[in-house]
Amino acid sequence: MRVVIAGGGVIGVCCAYYLAKAGVEVTLLERADIGDGATFGNAGVIAPGHTPIAKPGRLKQALRSMLQPLSPFYVPPRLNLSLLRWLFAFARHCTQRHVTFAMQTLGPMGHASLRLFDELIAEEELACGYRRAGFYEVCLSEGGLRAVTEEAAFVKGYGFDSRALSGAELREREPRLGESIIGGVWYPEAATMNPHGFVTELAARARRLGAALCTGKEVAAVLVESGRVRGVRTRQGELVEADAVVLAAGAYTVPLVRQLGLKLPLEPAKGYHRDAVATSSEPLLRESCVLAERLVFCTPMHAFTRFAGTLEFSGVNHDIRRPRLEQLTRAARDYFPHLPPFEIVSEWCGLRPCLPDGLPAIGAVQRYPGLYVATGHAMAGLTLGPITGKLVAELLTTGTTSIDITALRPDRFSGAGQLA
Ligand SMILES: Cc1cc2nc3c(=O)[nH]c(=O)nc-3n(C[C@H](O)[C@H](O)[C@H](O)COP(=O)(O)OP(=O)(O)OC[C@H]3O[C@@H](n4cnc5c(N)ncnc54)[C@H](O)[C@@H]3O)c2cc1C
Repeated sequence: MRVVIAGGGVIGVCCAYYLAKAGVEVTLLERADIGDGATFGNAGVIAPGHTPIAKPGRLKQALRSMLQPLSPFYVPPRLNLSLLRWLFAFARHCTQRHVTFAMQTLGPMGHASLRLFDELIAEEELACGYRRAGFYEVCLSEGGLRAVTEEAAFVKGYGFDSRALSGAELREREPRLGESIIGGVWYPEAATMNPHGFVTELAARARRLGAALCTGKEVAAVLVESGRVRGVRTRQGELVEADAVVLAAGAYTVPLVRQLGLKLPLEPAKGYHRDAVATSSEPLLRESCVLAERLVFCTPMHAFTRFAGTLEFSGVNHDIRRPRLEQLTRAARDYFPHLPPFEIVSEWCGLRPCLPDGLPAIGAVQRYPGLYVATGHAMAGLTLGPITGKLVAELLTTGTTSIDITALRPDRFSGAGQLA
């Protein structure tokens, strides 16, 4: 079987690796370089068991955020029909009932993905700073502490371990945390890594298994003959024939499905990072922490510490709003008042692919035999990368999957083979 994958982010590369491992002839086409999209600068936290972005309270946060440009969850006021439709659909999914439904799939996927990370790192010897020391969600306020404690208790029901820690216990583990931290939660099973290191290393292993990973090749159209997918045409005019095509172009997948008359209600949620290096020889942070009230992830990554976060629904663009970017390190100073002086070595933004129910779309598109979608991973694309690749490989080679992913079918947003 010949398979073409559109997109060389963490999802496309994981699909390429597991398909090649299953003996499939794989060609991955990436329009820029491997891992150049959202994967490049994400926070590097493998956080299995985390709930979807659509959850109770998020709608109120979205509405309030229109007046607060520094809010972690930000919807700038603008007239855009597809965003409005997306927000209405999102609002419908911001219920506890939906979170419970979503966790029935995200739970098993999270456990399986973590096992696959351990396996990949050990077997393939991926040099990406993989560290299995968990992360700490740290709180300044009673409200924040209540929210993270409730979330931890909820995900415990799906088998994800967590420990409540006092402010003093947290300061013992991460001495940079200030006196104003009142407590938090430790997720001991979680891991951290340099996401770009991971994806480039895995891409090299996929090549070793025989996959062709081609950069600078943009998929312009999916070719369909007699109702069946036959391959793709690139922007450069090449035709690449295949028995199946996997669309894994992250937040940029929409034009590819639209050209087939399908709709995918995918909105990009922009996130930013600032990488900092202490100007003295001491490391900035020892442990990976999430600043609960500000939704900022702080991850030590060997040569630097990454401050990453914010969800900004401002469309497909890479414009950096400086106040939002600077907010990352400003927030960090509220939680870590003892940070030594540092310099910023990288500033970046990337687009998370988000569907209105907060779940990814993984599976076959009924209307076009041979067409598959693997995108929409929102805040969990790194976390769910390996299991997504494995499930796509299973689906293409056996027609079934080891985890029930009915809830993720790409055409779930409407009937008749449409994606929305
Ligand atoms: C600030 C920030 C922090 C994050 N932190 C975390 C975290 O800690 N943990 C976690 O699990 N997730 C995190 N995420 C989310 C995660 O980064 C994404 O879910 C994940 O990267 C999505 O991967 P992807 O492969 O679908 O998309 P991308 O990484 O965006 O890759 C898509 C690729 O497709 C290519 N492409 C686009 N169109 C075409 C085309 N027509 N033809 C060929 N190629 C094409 C692009 O160039 C790109 O390389 C974070 C995201 C952000 C922005």
